[in-house]
Amino acid sequence: MIRVKVGQLLRLPSVLSEMGYRVIVPTESNGVTKFADFATDSGIDLHYVRAINAPRDFLLPDGEKLFSYRSTATVTSYGLKIRFPTVEGPCPVTINAEYTAPSGRIAFFAIHPCHANSIRYLDSVMLSDPADPYYRARRDGMLTVVMECEEGDDHCFCVPAESWELEEGYCDILVRRSGDGFLLQPRSEAGKKAASRLEAQEELGSIKERPPKMRTSFRIHASEEDIDRGEAKGIDSCTLCAACTVTCPTCYCSDIEDRFHLVDPSNVERVRKRMSCQRRCYSMIAGGNIFLKTKEDRYRWRLKHKFPFSSKAFGISGCVGCGNCIAFCPAGIDMRRTVGRGTNK
Ligand code: SF4
Ligand code: SF4
Repeated sequence: MIRVKVGQLLRLPSVLSEMGYRVIVPTESNGVTKFADFATDSGIDLHYVRAINAPRDFLLPDGEKLFSYRSTATVTSYGLKIRFPTVEGPCPVTINAEYTAPSGRIAFFAIHPCHANSIRYLDSVMLSDPADPYYRARRDGMLTVVMECEEGDDHCFCVPAESWELEEGYCDILVRRSGDGFLLQPRSEAGKKAASRLEAQEELGSIKERPPKMRTSFRIHASEEDIDRGEAKGIDSCTLCAACTVTCPTCYCSDIEDRFHLVDPSNVERVRKRMSCQRRCYSMIAGGNIFLKTKEDRYRWRLKHKFPFSSKAFGISGCVGCGNCIAFCPAGIDMRRTVGRGTNK
């Protein structure tokens, strides 16, 4: 364990950058904290409680190009003309084998324990057989500097969600505020290597993560029956803005889109775009039928996916209790009213 002053801690992103990482840091602008690529003039926010985005946005970026292919599409005076398979033969489309996996190693600086656990959840989804090659390429070689929270805000519930502890492999350096400085506990070889490049004072002993102070205390009851029965207060006021899923560190649902360039429509890009289960089109199938018809259907579906479905499919909860879906919901919809039981809520 080492002790550093704030200036030394703030040197760590430069150290990681010199070690060849793409470094992602929390930055603050107009009162909103957002993770962004580190630059030497980045104003790093070490005091944030909540950020509007999460490691997911870098490991599984929205709008990622998967590959490109050549099509026989042409632009006519009637618009884009695409030749589909006919009785004369299949659609003469050639898939261009120009697939390149993303390269480079990512380091996340000063993420919180709930963020580290959101990566653990995404791993269980994206790396389960068959693993997503784009996610895997970004995930391999990742380094995390996890900064403990001392106290959550009104929306945090990582303690009831049991996501403040860190599994092995999800924290390379643990950081704790201590007096006018910080304690750093490297937990991996990569973490030790990075920490050894800081001017620091060695201290005896080690630190282990500890739970932050919560402003609310309750237990989560989130079986399918609990979610069906639970209150869905305020759901009629849902604006369908999708902020709850856009800002959720564990939401990974996506849609696939083929993008034609009007100048050269024979060149097509296949793109993976984020999709929200709170939108009507999410469950629309051919013929226009929609399975999740009402706002309440979609709300309960989101909670079922987060809790019982994820536990069954991956053996891990899909909610890390960060509270973003509550904090950023313009309609004040609070899932703790549906799945939380207990005191002081
Ligand atoms: S469901 Fe809400 S509280 Fe849970 S991880 Fe997503 S944004 Fe955070
Ligand atoms: S953030 Fe709130 S208002 Fe927006 S879609 Fe989600 S539940 Fe509805």
